[in-house]
Amino acid sequence: MGDNRVLTCVYCGMEYPQDTPAWGDKILTDHIKVCEKHPMRKLRKALADLVGASTKEELESMEVTLRLVPGIEQDKIVAINAIHALLETI
Ligand SMILES: [Zn+2]
Repeated sequence: MGDNRVLTCVYCGMEYPQDTPAWGDKILTDHIKVCEKHPMRKLRKALADLVGASTKEELESMEVTLRLVPGIEQDKIVAINAIHALLETI
């Protein structure tokens, strides 16, 4: 005992002591979704600007379009990966 582990967000310094309800690996994953200082916030904005879409509907229709139009396969994969990254962080 005496092993008081604390999970700390490396971005904003938010601390989750071991007695926090639902404490575990998932608590930081959940926190990151709402963390104001997580780089994903900035990254997501940059990606959304790059892809030109940010809502689920826009992103999904963009992916369909991307898959249908001819183009360089490698470029499409990059764009589709970006779309998936955005969809996962909605
Ligand atoms: Zn944080």
